Amino acid sequence: MQLGLLGSFSFSYSLYLASCTPAKVPPVMAATSALSLTPYTFSCNPRHRKRSISCSIGSPNTIGTHGSKVPRKRSGRTEGARKSMEDSVQRKMEQFYEGSNGPPLRVLPIGGLGEIGMNCMLVGNYDRYILIDAGVMFPDYDELGVQKIIPDTTFIKRWSHKIEAVIITHGHEDHIGALPWVIPALDSHTPIYASSFTMELIRKRLKENGIFVPSRLKVFKTRRRFTAGPFEIEPIRVTHSIPDCCGLVLRCADGTILHTGDWKIDESPLDGKVFDREALEQLSKEGVTLMMSDSTNVLSPGRTTSESVVRDALMKHISAAKGRVITTQFASNIHRLGSVKSAADLTGRKLVFVGMSLRTYLDAAWKDGKAPIDPSTLVTIF
Ligand SMILES: [Zn+2]
Repeated sequence: MQLGLLGSFSFSYSLYLASCTPAKVPPVMAATSALSLTPYTFSCNPRHRKRSISCSIGSPNTIGTHGSKVPRKRSGRTEGARKSMEDSVQRKMEQFYEGSNGPPLRVLPIGGLGEIGMNCMLVGNYDRYILIDAGVMFPDYDELGVQKIIPDTTFIKRWSHKIEAVIITHGHEDHIGALPWVIPALDSHTPIYASSFTMELIRKRLKENGIFVPSRLKVFKTRRRFTAGPFEIEPIRVTHSIPDCCGLVLRCADGTILHTGDWKIDESPLDGKVFDREALEQLSKEGVTLMMSDSTNVLSPGRTTSESVVRDALMKHISAAKGRVITTQFASNIHRLGSVKSAADLTGRKLVFVGMSLRTYLDAAWKDGKAPIDPSTLVTIF
């Protein structure tokens, strides 16, 4: 199997927002990364020897990396920034393959590669594209006044007639957080696909922003194939730190692409839903034209600790503690919430949440039948 890792490519324009009400307030500051977009050809699976994939390559100097906190380049001026961005988009579009010329499989990252957050990628067969994920990036410590950084909706809007579906791999903010900006840039009927728990989170977000159109939302199940845009898509289960995470197998007449989504290989996940190795084994026999895999710390050696090890540690320490216990975590880690609940039950404690997001994720899990806690049993503090 020929593998392609897109860890260092980027085509990222970012809008820096000083407001988080997308329907009413336009972005007030825009910035562009000075990236060149050069068509690139991967060598492919021998079975698809004549096929190639085009992709954009960004200068590594302009791409932040996890840990090093390299600042993203930007103009620093609001005046003329939008014009500058549109000019830059135009130049890039002129350099990218369009129509029937060039390679049949096309990958165009809008963000999220070589940086933490803002996952958003166009994958196409000739001029027919799907958009995989639409996430935000959170600002660095020196970006005062900036609340969220979102993918380039100017570019998405220009190409909206080519984007036939949005596919969401999982519910983390860096994969769904930009939907309130991206959806209005798409055609009004473009469907949005996600697994059931992820869709609960999306529903809430779209309702909050006044752009909830139920007929556009399509729930998929792992291993159940469906057609979206030019691809037959098969979601496969991967383990991660939020329920219902999927990798995507994208099949079309010109090849097969595997997009793993975010993942860790947890051999003993608390919900018993293991990483679907079987699907990958089958896929390896079928052949893959391109595999794309880019998860946080993916290049670090070693293994990530299983969530069941974390549960055992929580049980031990909370059992040994006297009085109240305060724990902190990512609100989206429903499995860990379950571990804290188990420890509370074991030691005769009650749970109280401090923070809105904890309740948001728990409510979504409750509606989807995946909640480890009945929300009505929580102690309220308001
Ligand atoms: Zn994630």
